[in-house]
Amino acid sequence: MSWFSSSLIAWLTAEGDVRRYSEALVILRCKYTSRKVLYKLKLVFEIIAHCNTFNECCRDNFGTKTEIEELSTKELIKVIDNCLELGATKFNLSGGEILLVAMSKLKQILEYIQSCGAVGVINTNGRLVTDKLLGEIGHATKQINFGFNSTNPKTNMLMGKYQPNEKYGNYEELILANMDKVNNHNLLLELNILMSALNIPDMEDMAQVINDKKIKRVRANEFTPSRGAKANNELFATTREEYLAGCQKLKTFCPSVEVALKTKEYYENGFSIVTSNGMLIVSKNGVDIPLADLRQDKIDGKAIVEKVGVA
Ligand code: SF4
Repeated sequence: MSWFSSSLIAWLTAEGDVRRYSEALVILRCKYTSRKVLYKLKLVFEIIAHCNTFNECCRDNFGTKTEIEELSTKELIKVIDNCLELGATKFNLSGGEILLVAMSKLKQILEYIQSCGAVGVINTNGRLVTDKLLGEIGHATKQINFGFNSTNPKTNMLMGKYQPNEKYGNYEELILANMDKVNNHNLLLELNILMSALNIPDMEDMAQVINDKKIKRVRANEFTPSRGAKANNELFATTREEYLAGCQKLKTFCPSVEVALKTKEYYENGFSIVTSNGMLIVSKNGVDIPLADLRQDKIDGKAIVEKVGVA
């Protein structure tokens, strides 16, 4: 077994969470340095900076962006290649709303990731999930993550201006029905909850959804006033005790479900994204540090590691 493999296994074991093996989205093996440092990045790939929803709690106010700038399929593949070069094993594809990306393009990207032996996961707000879409992309992904914060329309209105409208109908009913579609296509369904002062009181009802929809894993994200979400800190911020109490409620009512706690520290220290223009950015101590333009032909791994080191 190589030094790298044994270090990776040691790290996974030390973390006490074998799921991290599949969640280690980008691992930088610093073969570029003499010190051979192992650096890990958790990566979300924001393929599109545009959304069909406007959430007050959105880090980037994606729903307000009217100009849609997307990388071409060729550029996306270049970015994916560079992520793979850095050690990516799993791509958490996100937006904005990823399902606004043309279906054929999304299918191509997922198939490419799969052909490279990595995993592509879809993160969606759930509104645009259809049987047709799942039929098209289901062979190239195993997992769809829904962002859904509450079953209470009033809470959803406050958190995300989710109003019933002609196009989408009743928001809560639509999302619950779309979760069934994912289950019917035998894809793994995970749930992303943004835990804020507004929806933590709704966690007992959310537990019911988790059990009903056979959700096996929930990411309970503590509201973090980073990037665009800073402006709404007063409305959404919770104390650590409130956040933990909300998570505990989910654990109590869904005993067989894995509830992954994603705290402010998680997002402020080492959380990494690739933005829709192909930039690799890492948050360290709450500050976003641009690391590299992944559209380039060849990325400089040494420079990336050094930037992370000095931050
Ligand atoms: S669904 Fe996601 S990307 Fe869209 S506005 Fe809400 S938080 Fe932002």
